[in-house]
Formats: sequence, C-alpha cells, structure tokens
Amino acid sequence: MGGMASAPPVHPLKRLLRYSTTHRGAIRTAVAYSVLNKLFDLAPPFLIGMAVDVVVRSEASLIGQIFGLEDQLHQLIALGVLNAIVWIAESAFEYAYQVRWRNLAQTIQHEARLDAWSHVQRLEMGWFEDRSTGGLMAILNDDVNQLERFLDRGANDLIQTATTVLTIGTAFVVLAPQVAPFAFLPVPIILWGSFRFQRRLEPKYDVVRAKAGDLNACLANDLGGIATIKAFSAEAREVERVDEASRNYQAANGEAIRISSAFVPLIRMAILFGFTATLIFGGWLTLEGTLEVGTYSVMVYVTQRLLWPLTRLGETFDLYQRSMASTRRLLDLLAVEPAITPGDRALADARAHALSFRDVRFSYGEGPNILRGLSLEVPAGETHAVVGATGSGKSTLVKALLRFHEVTDGEVRMGAENVRDLSFDSLRGSVGLVAQDVFLFHGTVRENVAYGRPDASDEDIVRAAERAEALEFIEALPQGWDTEIGERGQKLSGGQRQRLSIARALLRDPPVLILDEATSAVDNETEAAIQRSLEEVTGQRTTLIIAHRLSTVRNADRIHVLDAGQVVESGSHDELIHSGGLYASLWRVQTGQRAA
Ligand code: ATP
Ligand code: MG
Repeated sequence: MGGMASAPPVHPLKRLLRYSTTHRGAIRTAVAYSVLNKLFDLAPPFLIGMAVDVVVRSEASLIGQIFGLEDQLHQLIALGVLNAIVWIAESAFEYAYQVRWRNLAQTIQHEARLDAWSHVQRLEMGWFEDRSTGGLMAILNDDVNQLERFLDRGANDLIQTATTVLTIGTAFVVLAPQVAPFAFLPVPIILWGSFRFQRRLEPKYDVVRAKAGDLNACLANDLGGIATIKAFSAEAREVERVDEASRNYQAANGEAIRISSAFVPLIRMAILFGFTATLIFGGWLTLEGTLEVGTYSVMVYVTQRLLWPLTRLGETFDLYQRSMASTRRLLDLLAVEPAITPGDRALADARAHALSFRDVRFSYGEGPNILRGLSLEVPAGETHAVVGATGSGKSTLVKALLRFHEVTDGEVRMGAENVRDLSFDSLRGSVGLVAQDVFLFHGTVRENVAYGRPDASDEDIVRAAERAEALEFIEALPQGWDTEIGERGQKLSGGQRQRLSIARALLRDPPVLILDEATSAVDNETEAAIQRSLEEVTGQRTTLIIAHRLSTVRNADRIHVLDAGQVVESGSHDELIHSGGLYASLWRVQTGQRAA
C-alpha cells in the first residue's frame, strides 16, 4: 500500500485524540473511572497493614487514632467497615470503567470505519485503480478492529499501571523513605526498557500490518477470480501464492514476537531485585525498630502490587504498538485528499443535455496519451455512436465525461457547463450509464434495477425492465423479482446481466444515456428489440452508443469513428459508407463483403 499519503510526523496517539475530539468528555470520565478503580483496588494492602498495626500497637494504632477508638475490637470493626466500602467502591468503578471504555471502543471503531469508508468513496477512480481491494479491506476491517481492541483493554491497562506506580510511589516516600529507593530502583529500568522495546517493536508492527494487507489482497483477488482459477486448474499455484503471503505475515509476526517475548522475563529480573531488597532491607529496619511492623507488611504487599502489573506492561505496550500501527494506516487513509473534486454548479432542468468534447487530451497517470485532441459534439436529444478499434479510447471518453478521470487538456462540457464546474450529483445524476464491464450487486433483481432510484414505483421498475427486454426472463426466474442474483450477479447469464444493467440505467430516466457495449452479449434479435424500445424514448434524451457490432449503431443520427484517441470520421451510416473510409471497410468486414 505504498504512497498512501505523506503522513505528517505527528504521533498517531495525538492524531487519534485530535481525531476523536467529540469524545474528549467520555474519554476523561473513562480515565477517571480507571484511576478510581485502581485506587480502591490498591487500598486492601494498606488495610492489612492497619490490621497488623491494630494487633501490634493496640491503642496507639493508626486506625485507633483516626477514629478515636480505644478498644481493639472496635478498631477492627471500623477496619472491616472501611474494607467493605473499599471493595464495593472498587467493584462499582470496575463496572463503570469497563462499560465506559468498551462503549468508547465500540463508538470510535464504528465512527472510524464509517469515516474511512465515506472518505474512501470520495476518492477518485485512479486512486482505487492503484490499490487492491484486499489491502483496503485490511485497513477498513482489521486495522479498525485493532484500534477497538486497544481501547477495549489496553488504554485502561496503561492508565491503571501509571496510577499504581504513582500511588505506591507516594505511599513509599511518605511511609518508608529509606526503603523507597530499593523498591523503586527497578521502575526506571523497566520504563527505560519498555521504551526501548517499543521503539524496536514499532517498525516490526508496521511491517506486520503491511503484510496483513498483502495477504488480504491476495485472498480477495483469488476469491474474485475463483472461476478462472478452476478453469486453468491453478488451485495448487494459488495455494502456493497464498502460502507465500501468509508466510510473510507469519515471519513479520515472528520478528515482533521475538522482541516482545523477551520483555516480560527481563522485567521479572528487575522486579526480583526490587522485591528482595524491600523484603530484606525493610525487614531489617523493622527489626531495628525504625519501621513499624504494620508499615513493613504494607511495603511487602505493595511492592508486589507495584511490580506485578509492570510485567503486563509488555503485553499492553504490544497491544498499544499494534494499534498505533493500525491507527497510522487508518489516519493516513483519512488524510488522502481527493484529487478530483466536484464543482458547485448544477445543470438546468432539461429532458436532454448536449455533450461536447473540445480538443481533449488525456493519459492515465504518466502513461501514453490515450485521447489526443479529441473533438466531438452531440447536440441535445440526438443519438450518436462512437466506434473504433479496441483500445482506441472509447470507454476512456466516457470516464472523462463523468470525471472518473480528469482530462489533461481541452474541455468537456455537458449542457451549458464545463463538467469541472458541476456538482457530482448534477453531472453523474444526469447520466444513465451502462458500463462495458457490468457490475451488479449481491441482492435481488428488484434491488439491482432500482439501484439508481430506490424509491421508484413498481410500475416504473417493470416498465424499465420491459424496455430493456428483461421483463420476460425476470418473470421466468424461480423467485421472479425477488431472485437473489449472487455476488456480481454471477447467477445470471452475461446477456441477462447486461439487460438488468440497461433497465437500471433507464429507470433513472436520465437526460443523457450512455451505452458502452451495452448489448454486446445479447443475441441479435434481442438487441434489435432493445433498440426498438429505446428509440421510442431516445427522441427525448441524448444518447451515446459505443459498440463494435456496427449493426448496433447503424441507425444513430451520427457515427464518430475513433482511431488512436482522435475522431477520424463522422457522419451518418450512409454518408460514411459512401465516403469509403475506415467505417466503410469495417462495415464490409462485418457484413462479410470482401474488399475487391
Ligand atoms: P474496447 O473497445 O476494447 O473497450 P476502448 O476503446 O474502450 O476499447 P479504453 O478502455 O478507452 O479502450 O482504453 C484505451 C487505452 O487506455 C487502452 O490502451 C488501455 O490499455 C488504457 N487504459 C484503460 N483504462 C486504463 C486505466 N485505468 N489505467 C491505465 N490505462 C488504461
Ligand atoms: Mg471500452
């Protein structure tokens, strides 16, 4: 997925926070709940210390002094009550932070995915053509999920670990300043180690995410081409290909695992030192009488509570690093600016719009020139045809008109406007397109026909199907209009797909109708029938027909012959036959007349 966009060198977490500004309040409460839960969770060791204190020091005990209780039993009861409060509060905040963080995770993943998808849909065709479906799916699904996982668990873990270190640190400094340095010696080492680990893990997880994208792309590609794989009995080869992509993913993870797994054992060693030091040195101070027995027991318990979560830091950082790699990819995607943006003008309401190409030049990216000074006029309401050799630029012409791609030079106009100035709704909404490679959606026949006008009445839908000569076969389908046609409409024949696509375009009753090889897959008889029913309505709209089969275009008001990105001949069928040029020779070939 190279060349997404040059990401600004801002930390992904900051970008994420900036991105989710609307949730600042919710994030703050979630953080507060996490901290409160941890504080109450850390209280029991102190209560144990106080209990020991009660037993050892009786009237002079801390709890006795605080509550002014002299009787040891009363002191213990007070402790018991305190303990109950602490436990209940801990549980309550546990529930509160879980609900907060997990809902936050759900909200943010939902919004991020939706944002990414609506953003991606605004990007121009060229951008998609340079990328793989699978790779994009990896971002829209896996990377978003990774972010969700971190918010679900990791964020809380990080906050609670920090709370632990700060709280216990403060307790140590207040209660036993002599022992504090020993207990805390491991902390800077652990933190330093963690950051170093993080640094080394970061690039590894970027690679992991990239490899996951490649693997996804490979699988999506194979699934899309499953019929071709079977036809060429290439199953084994494709397994090998997936095997390779999957191994790359595995290897990338392996690298990350090697580093992230070393983390916990190393931290444990540091912890061992801190714990032993507290145990021995603190015990010695207690024996000496410089440290209260109660305080000593708090120290020992608390050191464990301090250091233990730090071993999980590795795991949490791991989760964090993975999610940051994903966040980077997601935010990079959101940062891609559409290269083709709509104008703000709208076409005047009309039954038909004229089309005009003036000296249009175009190439795909840095590629060769496809349109080289093409000029073509289709007056409003007329039916024109474009013919020409394969690869001469006919479909490209349509893409330029709809601004799927931007022309490099010259002018494309619809009605009275340059297409650049029109809003996409006005421009594309005025065109009914039957594209050369028909795409139908997974769903029913009715949903597909009504795709461009979901609120169309049943009558209109049936009429459109009738005009496209599709009604008969639709009604003969086992479930009729409610038949599921499979992904890409693969349960239909090629000609049936084309006719549904024509019905879909006609239902919009567009001022401009473009048929790019729209009837190439239907038999001559059906094509003739479609032509007849189209002619009933073509008088009212502008129609552009692209076809190789010249009988398809014979009746057009004017036929333009394209050669290498230029119009070389224009005229009616009869005129072109008489002039004896390229069209005339094409006609002879197709009608089986040999040139003398
Ligand atoms: P056909 O009759 O086979 O449909 P066409 O006249 O419609 O041909 P176009 O689809 O316009 O031909 O393609 C014109 C040229 O542009 C071809 O050489 C093709 O390889 C190239 N081309 C088409 N689409 C792209 C693209 N998305 N990126 C790069 N090159 C492209
Ligand atoms: Mg084409």
